Amino acid sequence: MSTDEPSIAIEPAHIAPLICPHCGAPVALGTFADTTPDTAKCIACNTEGAIAPEYAAIRATARAAESDRKEAQDLAKHLVSPPGPMMRAWMTVSNVAIVVLMLLLFVWLIVGMVMCLGIL
Ligand SMILES: [Zn+2]
Repeated sequence: MSTDEPSIAIEPAHIAPLICPHCGAPVALGTFADTTPDTAKCIACNTEGAIAPEYAAIRATARAAESDRKEAQDLAKHLVSPPGPMMRAWMTVSNVAIVVLMLLLFVWLIVGMVMCLGIL
């Protein structure tokens, strides 16, 4: 391995474990549905305490990801939905019109060739 190549340094996480200040039990970060973004409730002693800004940032990122996922799912549902009845009717009419126009063009070409060649 040459020394010119950049090396990837993996540093340990700088976020301390979330511990309840009242009883010392580990505290879950909580769900996305928590209304208070900077607090977490200890399930051991039911104490609600403030969390570090790093955890608040993690929550905010998770909420943003969840929001983006829901938006993407809604968009995907919209994109894969079949066309409505009016659009299907319009597509049918336009397909019939194209076939009729192609037949008229073919007849026009045949009649033009026959008249130019003076067969009739
Ligand atoms: Zn506790």
